[in-house]
Amino acid sequence: MMEQQTLLHEGQCGLCLHFGESHPQEPQLIQIRQKHEAPEDIIEECGHPSHAPLGLKVTPISGCAGFELAPEARETIH
Ligand code: SF4
Repeated sequence: MMEQQTLLHEGQCGLCLHFGESHPQEPQLIQIRQKHEAPEDIIEECGHPSHAPLGLKVTPISGCAGFELAPEARETIH
């Protein structure tokens, strides 16, 4: 069965370059960024310099003011 996918908008962690920043080439991350959708229940570390020392973990639908659009997500916004 397909996992439930949720549409992501700019400002949400799934489209942020800090989401899973230590392993940006992971196919699932690239797919999330290109399709702008993700399962809500996956958890990744946030690599933002303010959050990484705290070990912050976020879901694709989380977000914060440190959001920066990932390059792969930028290319596919229509
Ligand atoms: S918590 Fe903020 S900086 Fe970290 S991935 Fe989410 S939007 Fe990006």
